[in-house]
Amino acid sequence: MDTGTGCRELYANVIVDISLDKLDKAFQYLVPGELRDRLRVGMQVEIPFGPRTVRGYVVELVDRPEYDVGKLRPLAGIAESGVPIESQLIELAAWMRRQYGSTMNQALKTVLPIKRVVRKVERRSVELLLDEREARAKLALLENRHSTAQARLLRELIEVKTLDYALVTGKLSVSASVVRALEQQRIVRVTSSRAYRNPVEHLKKKGYHLTLNEQQQQVVDLVAGDMEKGIAQTYLLKGVTGSGKTEVYMELIARVIAKGRQAILLIPEIALTYQTVMRFYNRFGERVSILNSRMSQGERFDQFERAKNGDIDIMIGPRSALFTPFERLGLIIVDEEHETSYKSENVPRYHAREVAIRRAMMNGASVVLGSATPSVDSYYQAVNGSYRLLRLDARVDDRPLPECEIVDMRQELKRGNRSILSDRLQELMEERLQRGQQTMLFLNRRGVSGFISCRSCGFVVKCPHCDVSLSLHGGGRMVCHYCGYEDREPKVCPSCGSKYMGAFKAGTEKIEQMVQARFPQARILRMDYDTTRTKDSYEKILQSFANREADILIGTQMIVKGHDFPGVTLVGVLAADMSLHVADFHSAERTFQLLTQAVGRAGRGHEPGYALIQTYDPEHFAILAAKAQDYDAFYGQEIAYRTLLNYPPVCHMLLVHCMGADPAVLERAGAVLAEHLRGRIAEAHREVLLVGPAEATVARVNDIYHRVLYMKAKDYEELVNLKDGIESLVKASALLSSVSIQFDFDPASGF
Ligand code: ADP
Ligand code: ZN
Ligand code: ZN
Repeated sequence: MDTGTGCRELYANVIVDISLDKLDKAFQYLVPGELRDRLRVGMQVEIPFGPRTVRGYVVELVDRPEYDVGKLRPLAGIAESGVPIESQLIELAAWMRRQYGSTMNQALKTVLPIKRVVRKVERRSVELLLDEREARAKLALLENRHSTAQARLLRELIEVKTLDYALVTGKLSVSASVVRALEQQRIVRVTSSRAYRNPVEHLKKKGYHLTLNEQQQQVVDLVAGDMEKGIAQTYLLKGVTGSGKTEVYMELIARVIAKGRQAILLIPEIALTYQTVMRFYNRFGERVSILNSRMSQGERFDQFERAKNGDIDIMIGPRSALFTPFERLGLIIVDEEHETSYKSENVPRYHAREVAIRRAMMNGASVVLGSATPSVDSYYQAVNGSYRLLRLDARVDDRPLPECEIVDMRQELKRGNRSILSDRLQELMEERLQRGQQTMLFLNRRGVSGFISCRSCGFVVKCPHCDVSLSLHGGGRMVCHYCGYEDREPKVCPSCGSKYMGAFKAGTEKIEQMVQARFPQARILRMDYDTTRTKDSYEKILQSFANREADILIGTQMIVKGHDFPGVTLVGVLAADMSLHVADFHSAERTFQLLTQAVGRAGRGHEPGYALIQTYDPEHFAILAAKAQDYDAFYGQEIAYRTLLNYPPVCHMLLVHCMGADPAVLERAGAVLAEHLRGRIAEAHREVLLVGPAEATVARVNDIYHRVLYMKAKDYEELVNLKDGIESLVKASALLSSVSIQFDFDPASGF
C-alpha cells in the first residue's frame, strides 16, 4: 500500500442538480488516478447514478472519504462540451469558501441562482386559426345567429390575429365560456407561454441625448482603450458628487455591450431608486434588469434566467447581483464602493469589491470602482498601483461645492445653550424659512453603541492599548472590544472634572419635536428607520421633499445618499461626533465619508449651498478634512494612523467570532482556540499577532453569548491558513463543535 509521496486518494463531492434541496445532498465519488491532476472544483463530470450515467458538478475535492470507501464508485469522466456558467460560479464559490471561511454549502447558496418551486406567471393568449376570408364567413354566420359576444371577439381577432387572454376577458368583456365555444369550433386557439417577469417593463422609454464633457470622455477613452487592447484591470474612479460618474458608467457599459459582452452594476440598495433605474432604462431599454431585496425568490430567479438566456445585457442591483449568470461578462462597476453594505453580514462574509475583482479576473473582465469618497482600502490599492486611479474633479456644470462652517458645541454649553441646535444653526434655518428655501438636518447616528463622552470638553474615554472608544456595558463597566481591556465608568470627566459625562443619545423623533417647537410654522418631514418601513415610503418622502411640500427634512444617513434637491441651500449636521467614537477603527473614515456626502447635498440648484457641522471635537482631522472637502488631507492622516497601529489595509485582520448558550463552555472553547493558534503562530506564522479572547461588543444577545479572538498579519494568506487550521480542529473537537464559530476577514464594523 502506498503511504505518502503525492499519491493520496482524492474524492469528489458532486451535485447533480442545482436546486435548493439538492445542494445539501452532494454525492461522493472516487477520483480515478488519470483525472486527479485535471479535475477542479466547478467542473462538469459524468457520474454513475443508479443504473444510469448523468452529469453533475464537482463542488468539493477532499482527501478523506466521508463514507465507507468500499461503497464509493469512481467518476466516469469529465464532460468535455464547453464550460457552463454554473461551473464558473461554483469555482467562484470555492474561492469564497476558502477566502472568507464557510462551508461549501453556504458558499454555493450565496453564489448559485437557486431553483425553487415558484408559481409560474403564464401569459395566455387567444389566437385566430382561420385565414381572413374564412374568418369573415364565420363572422357573418355568428352575426346571423346573434352570438354577439363570439362575434365581437372574432371581429377583433380579424384585425390583430392574437389577443392577450386577460384583455379578452377584461376589456372586451368576453367570458371564458365564449372563448371555449370558439375554441371548440376550431376558430381560435388558446396558447400559454411562460413569461418572465421583467421588473422594469412598466417604465416608459425616452430617447437618449447627452454628450460627455472632456473629463468624462478622457476617463471613458482610457478604460475603453484598455479593453480594446485586451487589458482588463481594476480602476478606481474618484469623482466628486455630481461630476457625472453615472454617465461614464453608462458609456462604458454601451461599449461593452457593443462587443457582445455583458455588464453588472452594483449600487447600494438605498440608492436603487426609480430615478437611477430610469436613467439606465432610458438608454438601454429592455436589455436592463434589476434586483432588489423586495423581490420574491421567484422574481430573482427569473432575472437570473433572463441573464442566462441572453435576454438582458445589464444587471443592476446590490451585492448579490454580482452572481448574475452572464456567460460573457465584460465589466463590473461598483458604485459608491466605500459603502459598508458591500460587506456581507452572512457567512461567508465576503466583500463585494473583492469578489467582483475575482469574478472579473476569471472572465477577463474589467472592474470600475466609483466613489466621491473612496474607501481607505481602495485608495491604498490605487496609491500602491494595484488599481488604476481615475479622477473627475469638477462638477458637471462647474457649480461650486458648498461653503462649510464648524460649530463647537462645547462653547454652546458654556454659553448656556443646552439645545441640540446651536444658535448659529437656528439663525441659518430661520433665514431659509424666510426665503422659502429648504434645509436638511442630518443626525449622524451610525453605530450608536454607547461611547462615553464629556459634553463640557468633548473628552471621550478610549482604550489605552487600541485607541478605540470603550463601550458601555452593564453595571457601569466600560469594555474595549479589540483587546478586552475593562474599566469602570467615571463619574466626572477625567480631563476637565465636569459632571456632564455620559453616553450620548438622541433620536430623530425627539429632534423633530424640538425643531417643530422652535419653528412652529415650518413643515417638517422625517426620514429614518421608523418612517420608511412600509414599501415605497422612502421614495414618497423623497418625492414630497423634492416637490417642496416641506421646508425641513430630518433624517439619519439615509438622507445623505445621492439625491439631488435643488431647493436645499442649508445642510445641518447634528452631532458629527456620533460616528467618530464608535468602537471601530473605521470611525474616522465613516465620519469623513458621511460628512462629505452630507455637505455635498447643499447647493445643487442655482442658489449657493451652505453647510454647518456641529461637533464636540472641532479639531478632529476627519471633521476638518470634510469641511474643506479635502480627501487627500484626510487620507494622508488616516493611513498614517492605520500604519502606526497596524490596521487594514496596511495589515489584514481575521476575527474569529464564537457564540454559544453556555458561557462556561464558550470560555473554554475560546481558550482552546487561543492555545491552538498560539502554537501554530509560534511554529509557522511568526508574523501574526493574536489578541483575545475578549467579550464582543454585544456580549450577550437572546441568551447567546459572544466572544471574539482576532489576528493581524501583513499577509492575508497566512490568516487563511490559520482559518483552515481552525476548521480542521473544529471537526475533530467535540467541545469546539458545540459552539458556533464564524470568521470575518477585515471586518467592516466594530465587534
Ligand atoms: P455622479 O454620478 O458623479 O453624482 P451624475 O452622472 O449623476 O453624477 O451626473 C450629475 C448630473 O449631471 C446628472 O443630472 C446628469 O444627467 C448630469 N450630467 C452628467 N454628465 C453630463 C454631461 N456630460 N452633460 C450634461 N449633463 C451631464
Ligand atoms: Zn470634560
Ligand atoms: Zn483595547
